[in-house]
Amino acid sequence: MSILEQYAQIVGDDVIDQLQQLAKPLRGKSVVHVNSTKLGGGVAEILTKLVPLMQELELNTDWQVITGDEPFFQCTKGMHNALQGNQVSLPHGLLEHYEAINRENAERLRSHLVDADFVFIHDPQPAPQLSLCPDRQGHWIWRCHIDASHPYRPVWKFLRPFIEPYEASIFSLPAFAQALPHPEYIISPSIDPLSDKNIDLPPEEVREVLRQFQIDPDRPLVVQVSRYDRFKDPVGVIRAYKMATKFHPDLQLVLAGGSADDDPEGVLVLQEVKAEANHDPDIHILMLPPDANRTINALQRAADIVMQKSTREGFGLTVTEAMWKGKPVIGGDTGGIRLQVVNYHTGFLVNTPEGAALRIRYLLNQPDKITEFGHKAQEFVRENFLLTRHLREYMTLMVSLLHGGGDRLELT
Ligand code: UDP
Repeated sequence: MSILEQYAQIVGDDVIDQLQQLAKPLRGKSVVHVNSTKLGGGVAEILTKLVPLMQELELNTDWQVITGDEPFFQCTKGMHNALQGNQVSLPHGLLEHYEAINRENAERLRSHLVDADFVFIHDPQPAPQLSLCPDRQGHWIWRCHIDASHPYRPVWKFLRPFIEPYEASIFSLPAFAQALPHPEYIISPSIDPLSDKNIDLPPEEVREVLRQFQIDPDRPLVVQVSRYDRFKDPVGVIRAYKMATKFHPDLQLVLAGGSADDDPEGVLVLQEVKAEANHDPDIHILMLPPDANRTINALQRAADIVMQKSTREGFGLTVTEAMWKGKPVIGGDTGGIRLQVVNYHTGFLVNTPEGAALRIRYLLNQPDKITEFGHKAQEFVRENFLLTRHLREYMTLMVSLLHGGGDRLELT
């Protein structure tokens, strides 16, 4: 079955027809995505599915990856952190190296990029590619996946001249955008319903995962999937759980996160979490490997309620993932969680452990609300946060650029 046919089963034929319609003026056009890794991270995950989908729609789509050595990636990691507001000083020599590596890549990529109709440059790593391709023919778009709203100024001052000449830029949330002298578009992230993280699982597999972690399938379960990071407020989740157990003593809690070995702060947060849990056998603190996608999928499916009690958040993909599985989400009233959790409809927005405990109690007392919220949550994601919507918005932008960014588009 083609990818489009698989998606049609999930989003319906109308959505696919609409994509076909939008693709018509773009058929045969060459599109190149450029990022800095084929594997790992959200950008690669999206491109892995987006590129074949665009190819099926007969857009001549290619995905190129810039290569670099360790100092290069050390520099771009610093840029990433600096764009998100950390004070990272990047020595002059390292910035020169960043440009030199981009020049090497530009030579290699030249034949792919110079004639392309559309070039999407993802994030800061390959940003100088535009200025290194002066005889470019097509439309060049900078796609920023990170929060660039409050960058560390010296680093932004260095990057800005590379980014300004793009024809347009795309940010994931209005709050992430940075003022630039060209049109800026907001395209929110998406999840892939066909990936291991999100695909439907047989009930036996879900039960097997519960058995593996000694979780009782017959008692209520609250789950939060998150890195052990203070902004995700795992300690607040445990406090909320403890308050809720006064009314629902059979409640169980899972905190699922990755190994924190390479993250000194993660180790500290994990210690705080364990101290707060105080050996409660119904609090399961899990350390999962980075590729435990089906396990996370199963835990989200096994939950009665999913929490994402962040005090600061980017978009919050875990919220989308849980909602897609038909779960009500109790989330912190911050960042992209606000775009997803429709208070009193798909879940609750909360500011304190007390607020979260109250909502857990409310939902557990009314199982029909769990079902109703979960159903609405799934439909909300189907409508707004699947890969097909993401692609629709990319193609709308491309059609608009093809028409000179005019204020009128005719799709016939
Ligand atoms: N995730 C994971 N393993 C973990 C913790 C998180 O695979 O131990 C996944 C989670 O399912 C989601 C992503 O990592 O897909 C986290 O994205 P989100 O936007 O929620 O938060 P971030 O970690 O980017 O702040």
